[in-house]
Amino acid sequence: ADGLDDLLVHAARESPDKLALVEASGRSLTWRELDAEVARVATGLGDAGVVAGYRVALVLGNRLEMVTGYLAVLRAQAVAVPLGPGSTPAEVAQVVADSGARMVLADAGSVTSVRAALATLQASGASPSPRLVAVGTTLLPGERSWEHLRAERARRSPALHDAEQLAVLLYTSGTTGRPRAAMLTHRALRANVEQVARVEPPLVHGDDVVLGLVPLSHVYGLCAVLGAVLRQRAKLVMADVFDPGGVLDLIEDEACSVLPLAPGVLERWRSVEDLTDRLGPVRLVMSGSAPLDPAAAAEFTARTGLVVHQGYGLTETSPVVASTLGGPADPYSVGRALPGVGLRLVDAEGREVAAGDPGEVQVRGPHLFSGYWPGGEGGPGPDGWWSTGDVGLLDAAGDLLLVDRLTETIVVSGFTVYPVEVEAVLVTAPGVQAVAVVGADDPVTGSAVVAHVVPEPGTDTAQVLAGVEAVAVEHLAVFKRPARVVAAERLPRTRTGKVARSRLRDATAERS
Ligand code: ATP
Repeated sequence: ADGLDDLLVHAARESPDKLALVEASGRSLTWRELDAEVARVATGLGDAGVVAGYRVALVLGNRLEMVTGYLAVLRAQAVAVPLGPGSTPAEVAQVVADSGARMVLADAGSVTSVRAALATLQASGASPSPRLVAVGTTLLPGERSWEHLRAERARRSPALHDAEQLAVLLYTSGTTGRPRAAMLTHRALRANVEQVARVEPPLVHGDDVVLGLVPLSHVYGLCAVLGAVLRQRAKLVMADVFDPGGVLDLIEDEACSVLPLAPGVLERWRSVEDLTDRLGPVRLVMSGSAPLDPAAAAEFTARTGLVVHQGYGLTETSPVVASTLGGPADPYSVGRALPGVGLRLVDAEGREVAAGDPGEVQVRGPHLFSGYWPGGEGGPGPDGWWSTGDVGLLDAAGDLLLVDRLTETIVVSGFTVYPVEVEAVLVTAPGVQAVAVVGADDPVTGSAVVAHVVPEPGTDTAQVLAGVEAVAVEHLAVFKRPARVVAAERLPRTRTGKVARSRLRDATAERS
């Protein structure tokens, strides 16, 4: 068998007394304790009627039970359905209904949303009603507690998996609109863990202390970060909320050496004065899941002496495709394909593009998903290649530069405009804190470029917008220039910090 469970069993045997997980609250588990907990919860899941293939939703923050619950679901041969702890009742209801989850594990931060979602589903006559297991919070009648779910004694030995069995249903965070679930098998999860482990030098060593700040309900935290920790028997220090100072305290107190981050974190640390001292124990910073602002990365490096490496991945690829590890960290590039990952760029007809030309990124390998739930549509083609929807360029050294997402490209009078390119120019105008570019319908040109600009606090908005227009005229071809520049207080973002352009597009359509 080759799933993640084997890694856990191995870790418990080889490093029983080494700490595996540490929570910000101070609670912790050694590898032996984690394995024993997983065995008890897996047994309890079985006692509660969870059988192979059953979906169990996890609406939990970065806490011990998120990891034990997830690994126990896998050991019970059930299917984990992780959901962000900040999900609204409507989002929870949609995911529970779509996945057909029969049990939901929720902690104090999410239990109210989950209760509201389950009540809505029950009122709509959806059957059967999933059972709620509340973690670390008071119960209402009919609910179970986590303590009650854990069996007194573990009777379930590590499962022998069919590697092709479904392990996780992972809903993509939805920058493009409709959330849908990628079907990830035990094979895919383990394959990517091994691909990441083969990078030289590796992201995580056995003696590393890894900061668990990215949500474990997202593919980045769940598969890349937790997967690497399991594989290397490192220590994961979990932070449940992002408060810039609190996380720095945790890094210092726990001597975190590896920081897997979303790029927005660098922005939030800009105003911390003694940042360099506080990051003393850190040896590696990794940014992934959204575009890294090269200027922000350069500023961070100049201040702290720490380079910012990048990883590129998607939910559908479990997740890592490429990384700058092992090469120089260039903030414009997401690096090279991992060992065992096929990567190529194709044109609209599916033909490989000439060297240096932009094309859609296609990926091939054992880490790919098996299509979208429930029917498996949209998965890898018969030749094994899968189209990511991202447009990229390969430079002479074979490094991938992401240009933009195919769905975000704007076609103005037949010319293709990549929002990221326009944003990179507009953000250089004085007084601009952030900018996002989307397309809007236009009767003459088909689509028009609209720039949403967040001015820095204390600036004159009209002046900032005029500056943006001036920069556009100076540096952009006519068809790339925004037809409209509008002020925004802030940009809508997904929980990994990506600009939710679909929401901006909707807002743009409503305004015009
Ligand atoms: P949806 O697909 O529904 O819009 P989502 O995009 O948030 O949701 P994810 O699987 O979390 O779903 O994100 C994958 C996308 O994130 C990639 O297609 C790519 O556009 C972007 N991305 C990931 N890593 C990077 C990176 N290092 N730099 C720039 N973009 C990245």
